[in-house]
Amino acid sequence: MRRSLFCFLAMLLSAHAAAAQARWFRGNTHTHTINSDGDSAPDTVVRWYREHHYHFVVLSDHDSLTPVDGLNAVFAAPGKFLVLPGEEVTDRFEGAPVHLIGIGVREAVPPQGGTAIPEILTRDARAVRAAGGVPHINHPNFGWALTAGQIAASGARHFEIWNGHPLINNHGGGGSPSAEEIWDKVLSAGRVIFGVATDDAHHFSGEFSAAQANPGRGWIMVRATDLSAAALLAAFDRGDFYSSTGVELKSYEVSDREIRIELPREIGYTAPRYRTFFIGKDGAVLKQDNSFAPSYQFQGTELYVRARIESSNGAIAWTQPVFPKK
Ligand SMILES: [Zn+2]
Ligand SMILES: [Zn+2]
Repeated sequence: MRRSLFCFLAMLLSAHAAAAQARWFRGNTHTHTINSDGDSAPDTVVRWYREHHYHFVVLSDHDSLTPVDGLNAVFAAPGKFLVLPGEEVTDRFEGAPVHLIGIGVREAVPPQGGTAIPEILTRDARAVRAAGGVPHINHPNFGWALTAGQIAASGARHFEIWNGHPLINNHGGGGSPSAEEIWDKVLSAGRVIFGVATDDAHHFSGEFSAAQANPGRGWIMVRATDLSAAALLAAFDRGDFYSSTGVELKSYEVSDREIRIELPREIGYTAPRYRTFFIGKDGAVLKQDNSFAPSYQFQGTELYVRARIESSNGAIAWTQPVFPKK
């Protein structure tokens, strides 16, 4: 009895220590090089991310695995920067693009194909897992290829709610939902699915412009105990991350009772202000909080609660859905 109490306390303490040691690591999971349709060599791409305050980048060329060991020998630094292998499995169905990133795959995964989009997504995701990777679906509105129903039916756990490529229709239109509205539809169907922001960068040379697929536009902040492939993949897999196009959270805490966020309080006349929307089933706004410490107390009747934090300069952060206990 005493021993089990001791074990329980030790477990609690070690869980607490692990949580206390966890840090936020900034990374982009979707980037191309000249090994597919990017315009720059892998070392140019990796150097860009290292010089722009990222902790990690995933090289995700179409249907091929760009080797990262040589790059890590030059660019990696313990706790500061790491290159992860990856691939954009580039499948299609009746002409529609069905793309899915495999982060951390050991070998290239050929597109698995199938007779319907949910089946293709499921098969590609399974092949990524079999190769040691964690999958996320790409740009649902590119080519208007993927619907909420198809994503829900595939059983996917991660997909892009924001992608920096100029031709992928993040915002929806013409009666088609935005990627974020697709997220709420999948969540409202009772599926647990996490939202990822990425660059899908292709262009690192020449002028940067809105018409180019340049880097630095969308990323994730992963809460992990250390900057290793294993820790990053595990944290990403369980949804311990948020997505951003420029808003950085000072803190993000979830308890049984509430969500608490802290936003940076900058000083001076250029300091941004924020609007935080706590969003639930069917995309309904459950609460708007304009403070620097937005919070939401669970009622217990929400299917899920997620936060969208908008800065006065247009940048956004999205936290992952929380499923309150009844
Ligand atoms: Zn793609
Ligand atoms: Zn891509």
